[in-house]
Amino acid sequence: MGKCVICNQEFEGYGHNAEPLKTGACCGSCNVQVVLERLKIAKEMKDKMNNDGWSFVISCACGYKAKGNNEDEANEDLEKHQDKEHSSPF
Ligand SMILES: [Zn+2]
Ligand SMILES: [Zn+2]
Repeated sequence: MGKCVICNQEFEGYGHNAEPLKTGACCGSCNVQVVLERLKIAKEMKDKMNNDGWSFVISCACGYKAKGNNEDEANEDLEKHQDKEHSSPF
């Protein structure tokens, strides 16, 4: 028997690890929230890695990724790239 650190209900057995929502053990129904939170954190980390740490990334049609700390910076980078790589030959 244990007490859930999230909803304070008693549960049978060892319960589930409530990290990262709370420290301790939680019941089976609260574990659903815990799992969702873990998935959210994992997804955020993956998004960050895809962006190489930049907060704003715009993809060019050629596959180039324009990066910046905000939308303006990323747009500026994209324009620079397009001037250089996609300037019209005519
Ligand atoms: Zn609970
Ligand atoms: Zn391009």
